[in-house]
Amino acid sequence: MICFTTFELMIFSENFSLKTYNTFGIDAKAKYFTAFESIAELNSILISEIYKNNKTFVLGGGSNVLFKEDYDGLIIHNKIAGICILEDNKNDVIVEVGAGKNWHNFVMWSVSQGLSGIENLALIPGTVGASPIQNIGAYGLEVKDTIIKVAAIEIATQKVKTFSNAECEFQYRNSIFKGKRKGEFIITKVTFNLSKIPFNKTSYGVIAEELKSLDKAPSPQSIAEAVINIRSRKLPNPEELGNSGSFFKNPVILTPKFTALQKKFPKLVGYKISETETKVAAGWLIDNAGLKGYRKADAGVHINQALVLVNYGEASGEEIIALAKEIQTIVKEKYDIQIVPEVNIL
Ligand SMILES: Cc1cc2nc3c(=O)[nH]c(=O)nc-3n(C[C@H](O)[C@H](O)[C@H](O)COP(=O)(O)OP(=O)(O)OC[C@H]3O[C@@H](n4cnc5c(N)ncnc54)[C@H](O)[C@@H]3O)c2cc1C
Repeated sequence: MICFTTFELMIFSENFSLKTYNTFGIDAKAKYFTAFESIAELNSILISEIYKNNKTFVLGGGSNVLFKEDYDGLIIHNKIAGICILEDNKNDVIVEVGAGKNWHNFVMWSVSQGLSGIENLALIPGTVGASPIQNIGAYGLEVKDTIIKVAAIEIATQKVKTFSNAECEFQYRNSIFKGKRKGEFIITKVTFNLSKIPFNKTSYGVIAEELKSLDKAPSPQSIAEAVINIRSRKLPNPEELGNSGSFFKNPVILTPKFTALQKKFPKLVGYKISETETKVAAGWLIDNAGLKGYRKADAGVHINQALVLVNYGEASGEEIIALAKEIQTIVKEKYDIQIVPEVNIL
């Protein structure tokens, strides 16, 4: 048997601009940058001197990161692609997807096959490999509901580890990969259970309204189309205006505190999530504090979406962070609620 190692082919770029590798469009530089398209290439990176002698960060689509300064280490960009059908039975199709695959393209593939489970998550930027990290969610669905397992390389041992759905410890915008084992694994593949029986999850009123205006019955395809239309109207396109989607998480507070606040702010928006807790709409808190459209130089709060911070052109990561801190302080003073970033700050 003849084996070829791809080690010689790995290219490490120096002083590499990350401007087109993060949706905020921050012009931070990485000391080193490299990309891998296979596990063999990743292994080559992991045994390299540059890897061993530098701190490292795994980058997918850069849609949930904010570079506050130049990155003094090695950025490893995941480009493992491919969709592999592992099983096709009466009700379900089990697919294994490369972690570098573009998430939205995977959703479009799924709906083109008439499969259901992720259609409500259409147009979320980023890669398949990042989807379990913060358990992406939108319009009543979370990715945890379709994930069977996640394959990853453990950085310390360079061994493959497979996490079952339960082992991923999924929570709202959180998982083991963002929590207690943060930065320990490089996700290489994610396995999904897509259903042949449509979920038709239209409990978010806007989806039902959009389907009505499209004059279409619910199906994986029509729901994806409705979600794409709604998101395109609502959220700034990062290609036109730098942003990372929702900058802050929706805070969860004790329900008696929510009830007391609601007496003071009758229009306060919240959703009961357990017997004792209510999730508050962070966007409402920011908007009601008069901050929608607030701008400092090129860092701003979006004019229509108070939860989205934007880069009007030349904002630095530090300027976005200064703005975020100002918002946190105002929100804390006004409502006694601490809001925290959803985005990963580097
Ligand atoms: C316009 C816009 C709208 C958005 N809407 C939503 C939404 O509705 N719901 C939602 O949940 N999110 C949303 N997001 C956030 C973002 O799209 C998701 O968090 C997405 O999953 C990030 O994917 P990424 O590949 O860009 O990750 P990156 O930003 O590249 O990385 C995010 C984190 O994951 C880690 N990571 C990435 N890939 C790997 C890997 N293979 N192995 C190990 N670690 C890895 C990184 O180290 C980093 O810590 C939105 C963002 C934007 C810009």
